[in-house]
Amino acid sequence: MSSWSNWAGNVTTAPDLIAHPASTDEVVALVGAHPRLKAVGAGHSFTPIAATDATLLRLDRMNRILHADTTTGLVRVQAGISLHELNPRLAALGLALPNLGDVDPQSVAGATSTGTHGTGARLFGIAKAIAALQLVTADGEVLEIDAGHELFDAARVGLGALGIVTEVTLQCVPAFLLNAREEPMALSAVLRELDDLVDGNDHFEFYFFPHTDKALTKRNNRVPEGTAPAPLPRWRHLLDDELLSNTLYEQVQRLGTRRPALIPRINALSGSLLGAREYIDASHEVFVSPRRVRFRESEFALPRAAAAEAIGEMQRWYAKADESISFPVEVRFTAADDIWLSTGHERDNVYIAVHQFHRTDPTRYFAAMQDIFTAHEGRPHWGKMHTLGADYFRTVYPRFDDFVAVRDRLDPERKFTNAYLQQVLGS
Ligand SMILES: Cc1cc2nc3c(=O)[nH]c(=O)nc-3n(C[C@H](O)[C@H](O)[C@H](O)COP(=O)(O)OP(=O)(O)OC[C@H]3O[C@@H](n4cnc5c(N)ncnc54)[C@H](O)[C@@H]3O)c2cc1C
Repeated sequence: MSSWSNWAGNVTTAPDLIAHPASTDEVVALVGAHPRLKAVGAGHSFTPIAATDATLLRLDRMNRILHADTTTGLVRVQAGISLHELNPRLAALGLALPNLGDVDPQSVAGATSTGTHGTGARLFGIAKAIAALQLVTADGEVLEIDAGHELFDAARVGLGALGIVTEVTLQCVPAFLLNAREEPMALSAVLRELDDLVDGNDHFEFYFFPHTDKALTKRNNRVPEGTAPAPLPRWRHLLDDELLSNTLYEQVQRLGTRRPALIPRINALSGSLLGAREYIDASHEVFVSPRRVRFRESEFALPRAAAAEAIGEMQRWYAKADESISFPVEVRFTAADDIWLSTGHERDNVYIAVHQFHRTDPTRYFAAMQDIFTAHEGRPHWGKMHTLGADYFRTVYPRFDDFVAVRDRLDPERKFTNAYLQQVLGS
């Protein structure tokens, strides 16, 4: 028997079969031959959204760029291609995705199916770049779903519940450089100036350190045409991104696990060590950084206007809880979109992401944060930990029942279901 586990190591399954189809035809044949299947990407979801004990499809052999039109920016890819493979190949064509999250191992299908996003008050999650997708449904039909198709708004963030995505056409933009400016600030000052910071930068985000008033801000802005790149020197990249953010940080997290009483002082020190820096590089090099310290994560999208109030409630919880939280909290922003199950559906959002070191049980912390976030109509990231079910989602997604009806129609026998989809969509 084979086994599979996700990146965080908190979801492990023993599928009956792991298949590696190389084409849409092979996917159709597998869908016809097996009663229950699930496609997985890079296993970068913290929830069991990709888990199955039946047939698991890995689309790692479906990783080609099929067509690229550098005039329109439309790029057709096989759905298993990872963002890590895709980004430099787009750059070589003079193209880029308009926005990205902070890592790149995810597959295009996995990232879009869960609503993966980065930050930018005028920008959207990655699924919004989908111009068309090819979907193999439960009865083996191959649908081409573009903006004129009735399933477009359901299928772009489909949670893997509607079928197997085999190809995706992405609307790319001309490649661009970003000026990246990272700077520590007091959290109280960030919250006071929040609207200016969020609206005044193409991509603004910040991290804050629980039990302190320290924050690290990141402002990424497009540079005028003709600006030369000025990437970080290699030693600085190694010091900041490898040593401070990964190697040393792992040791710091281990120390915090052994001596929780030290965490507030460790956080204050971490917040001070990360100094200011500025550089100019290709967009995907700026967005993405390595993440080698294993953690668990929960992230909710809240109406943007609730940001300061929710963070204030979190700080009051940190102050009185008998638990010390060693990981910084990440805060990002996106614009409203039109995709039915996108966390950004018809709402400008703030995203608040809480993390816990993988050796520490996150249950109590994440439950307390979930209570804060749901009081603000929070929508959890489909790939990040939460305990909510269909009854709740019906209240925060106006098109939830429409999505469930599409699922009933396309997959009445529940070929593509698993326990997580039963929880969030209903049986
Ligand atoms: C270190 C780390 C950093 C992260 N950073 C961010 C971030 O910055 N922003 C953000 O929004 N998220 C982030 N995430 C979450 C991550 O982007 C999502 O969970 C994403 O879904 C993972 O993509 P994947 O390819 O690993 O998909 P998986 O986790 O393998 O699968 C996710 C879902 O997609 C479905 N799926 C996969 N392939 C197909 C297919 N071909 N057809 C149909 N369904 C399919 C699966 O069945 C499952 O339902 C991060 C996760 C980690 C571990």
